[in-house]
Amino acid sequence: MTRTRFAPSPTGQLHIGGLRTALYAYIWAKKNHGQFLVRIEDTDKTREVEGARDALLDTLEMFGIHADESIRAGGDCGPYIQSERLPIYREYVGKLIEQGDAYYCFTTEEELEAHKKKAEEAGIMIPFRSPYRDITLAEAKAKIAAGEKYVIRMKIPKGEVITFTDGLKGKISVPSADIDDQVLLKTDGFPTYHLAMAVDDHLMKITHVLRGDEWLPSTPKHVLLYRMFGWEAPEFYHLSVILGSDRKKLSKRNGDTHVSQFLENGYLKEALLNYIALIGWNSKTTKEIFSLPELIEAFSLDGLQIANGIFDPEKLKWMNGKYIAAMPTNELVDRLSEYLKQYNPEFYENTFITHDADFNNAVVAEVQKRCETLADFPVLSECFYHEPEVDTALLLSEKMGITDLTQAKEALQFGLDVIKTFTSTPSRDALKDAMIPKIAEAGKKNGQILWPLRVALTGKEFSPGAFEMTEILGLEKAIARIEKVIAKLA
Ligand code: GLU
Repeated sequence: MTRTRFAPSPTGQLHIGGLRTALYAYIWAKKNHGQFLVRIEDTDKTREVEGARDALLDTLEMFGIHADESIRAGGDCGPYIQSERLPIYREYVGKLIEQGDAYYCFTTEEELEAHKKKAEEAGIMIPFRSPYRDITLAEAKAKIAAGEKYVIRMKIPKGEVITFTDGLKGKISVPSADIDDQVLLKTDGFPTYHLAMAVDDHLMKITHVLRGDEWLPSTPKHVLLYRMFGWEAPEFYHLSVILGSDRKKLSKRNGDTHVSQFLENGYLKEALLNYIALIGWNSKTTKEIFSLPELIEAFSLDGLQIANGIFDPEKLKWMNGKYIAAMPTNELVDRLSEYLKQYNPEFYENTFITHDADFNNAVVAEVQKRCETLADFPVLSECFYHEPEVDTALLLSEKMGITDLTQAKEALQFGLDVIKTFTSTPSRDALKDAMIPKIAEAGKKNGQILWPLRVALTGKEFSPGAFEMTEILGLEKAIARIEKVIAKLA
């Protein structure tokens, strides 16, 4: 049975790299009809951020990455939060002590500093070997009884080469002489990540560990821990890093990194998930748009890429635009409404909800194809919601053959007369069918009439056309806008 996990530390908001790791782990479990677990790794209390744990869990759920087992979902291998598993880690570290694979270490901060300094001066990594490595258990117990502070360290075997296979990077060999006697249990009684992770992945029956590349250097220690315990290690897949467009690791310096920033900037969760899935995984087809079920269907571990992937904000924007364009308009209206309420309450309250639903739907349908993000909506829809202050210079267009304002005024009057033949709001097609033949009859070009008309209705150089504007604004408002500009030109 395939069992994967995502093991975030509650130290802040979810990074898109973290979301991708969770996504791949989730997909791999689902693809194999297995289980996906979320385990909270909160053994470093100094780095914990209040509220981060719930925010992480909420974000995963929002993206449809549902845990089969977690602090919320429950499960047979709980607790799914490490701070509630302290007795378990103590029990297992006790076994290592008994076996002689771990030892009590009483080294002081000053001694450790001196070691660090020595290594720094030498300019090389000198793995730490404690002077307490070989004292007897009785000696150690006496020190503890005397109240001396201690940590428990792993006793890295001497003169060995630790070898393991990473599913992505292949066979990796590290001499044990290069590995520190890693702390397993800290002075505060908390395990380190290394001990907790190895014990938990075993007890939680994890078969595949998909995690960030930064954990690769620690993996020899983990492999050794599994061996010391006599357990079979899971398969490891250390995922490539996501780079910014400057080819440096994606960070605050070269772009947005937090999932929440993308949501705030108007990206749809489906599009973001789709895009990040493709950063480190090759579908081996030309297909680019994948829903979550389609990703599960198409995914394979051998499509994971070894080379670091580059995050291209333009590509994400393009993809987001595709998702927005393809969404049924009524769904988009709901999504926009949620989005505006949360991130642009001013527009939401003063503009969006002050208009009736039919009007909003019509506006959304009109600008949908041009919205690349939800944040584009207030800008692209402005001409529908607010009467423009028309800059008369915009009425002129050499290309359209309108070179002076008298001509522009005549064109507006011409258009207005046609519009006024309707007694109720015409559809865009009805207006077009009335307008185009009249323009031809008058021996004019379409642009000569329609350009100024559109500018009078929108105040913008680029906008929806005069027919669409009239249909959506309604007869009365359209007439009023045109008349106002004519008056301005008088
Ligand atoms: N808690 C670790 C982190 O925050 C998880 C590492 C792992 O998946 O083993 O990155």
